[in-house]
Amino acid sequence: MHKAGFVTILGNPNVGKSTLMNELIGDRVSIITSKAQTTRHRILGVISGVDYQIVFSDTPGVINPHHNLHQAMMNTVKNSLEDADVILYMVDCNNDDLKDVTFLEIIDSFKIPIIILINKIDLINQEEVNSLIDYWAQKNPTALLIPISALTNFNIERVKEEILNILPESPPYFPKDTLTDKSERFIVSEIIREKILERYKQEIPYSVEVVVESFKDKGKVIVIDAIIYVERESQKGIMLGKKGIAINAVGTAARKTVQNFFKKKIFLGLFVKVAKDWRSRKSQLKKFGYN
Ligand code: GDP
Ligand code: MG
Repeated sequence: MHKAGFVTILGNPNVGKSTLMNELIGDRVSIITSKAQTTRHRILGVISGVDYQIVFSDTPGVINPHHNLHQAMMNTVKNSLEDADVILYMVDCNNDDLKDVTFLEIIDSFKIPIIILINKIDLINQEEVNSLIDYWAQKNPTALLIPISALTNFNIERVKEEILNILPESPPYFPKDTLTDKSERFIVSEIIREKILERYKQEIPYSVEVVVESFKDKGKVIVIDAIIYVERESQKGIMLGKKGIAINAVGTAARKTVQNFFKKKIFLGLFVKVAKDWRSRKSQLKKFGYN
């Protein structure tokens, strides 16, 4: 018998959704940083065995929409629920409720099995873990509860087993060697965005969109050109830094990570351009691939 299905990972920003998905599929597909709202698009990660295939969907965190980009991100979350066989609802030890509480009602209305993952238990003691389990069991009596640490790989195998228990009998949805539905270009742009998120303060990272303009695999090396779009002229100066030092640091760090991912030598060219107020302009959002 072959099992296959879709699993949506849901929860507030920063609880560890992307970390879990990367841990499960064993590669860095989804970018991770300590800043909230790192994941903007829905990213599929696929794991396959002889008799199963699990398609994970890493979503942006649940937020209250403030501008058009947020709205597009929330639509992404809602879409990912429609075809889900299992929902992984992730919380961390801060036991905050969902930023947008209407989501719990939406989840309930879909009647999809829920597994509540209490993440980051490496940060707390057993007593605190127990009280979190009590808290969430009371809130959601029907859901299965699993305390985990995505970062230290604690109980992650158990999560996989419980998912497989629930998944329906089905042929695989993707070829068995599929890792993600995203293109090589997308992965490169996400890695560059991750390095920007790690290095710049305040609103800069959120004002940035990265587009890989060309990706040429020349056998021993891959030659990549990417454009970093910012919203204003003033941000361009900050992105570049004095004598281009800041942007060069981004380039060096990104090149290393991209090299590790593709296991090939990488030439990476970065260019900074202004796309005025792109986060508020629907046409521009569309161009960048948000619906
Ligand atoms: P997302 O916004 O829900 O996708 O969260 P991320 O996966 O980007 O993680 C947010 C931050 O939490 C990162 O700094 C992670 O390293 C950290 N993190 C994720 N899982 C764990 C965990 O199990 N334990 C600890 N201590 N930190 C974690
Ligand atoms: Mg994420």
